[in-house]
Amino acid sequence: MTRIAIIGAGLSGLVAAESLSKRFDVQIFEKSRGAGGRMATRRAEPYAFDHGAQYFTAKSEAFRDFVTEYKEAGLVEEWRCRTISLNGSNREIRRPMFVASPSMNSLAKDLARGLKVKYRIQISALKRDPVGWVLLDSTGAEHGVFD
Ligand SMILES: Cc1cc2nc3c(=O)[nH]c(=O)nc-3n(C[C@H](O)[C@H](O)[C@H](O)COP(=O)(O)OP(=O)(O)OC[C@H]3O[C@@H](n4cnc5c(N)ncnc54)[C@H](O)[C@@H]3O)c2cc1C
Repeated sequence: MTRIAIIGAGLSGLVAAESLSKRFDVQIFEKSRGAGGRMATRRAEPYAFDHGAQYFTAKSEAFRDFVTEYKEAGLVEEWRCRTISLNGSNREIRRPMFVASPSMNSLAKDLARGLKVKYRIQISALKRDPVGWVLLDSTGAEHGVFD
């Protein structure tokens, strides 16, 4: 089976992995200790802060379908917030705004479940090998051969 390596367990890497893993053997490498990338949440009990992306909108039909699926599963909610502009432009966001629920990183956590993710590995180089591409981390250790 074709082996695919994805560097980064942010939303892009996770969605790509979910889609590709239906046909290929997919391994994700993530340098931090959790999934989500910039869809990040920090906890300071009893509070939690989404300190990366605050919300997202859905422009394309394909992405609206993706959002609908996760809304039905209770992992995404429409965010009905009151916005103000500080520069006087009064620019309004007219498209529906969405947030992952209960926190921005929960969507990533859900996507990561069922995928092969290795955390705390920072990929620093790719080396061409006769049988494929070898991934190396920042210490020079090898992390397998991929197509
Ligand atoms: C403050 C802020 C506000 C934002 N607001 C919005 C918003 O309102 N609406 C919106 O749609 N978008 C917003 N964004 C952008 C949105 O967060 C990103 O577009 C989206 O989350 C990016 O996903 P990604 O997977 O492409 O990248 P990232 O989320 O950056 O994920 C990349 C992942 O790769 C990992 N990685 C990187 N290099 C390596 C390596 N060498 N080895 C292993 N792992 C590696 C990182 O640790 C990270 O987890 C905002 C971003 C920020 C920072």
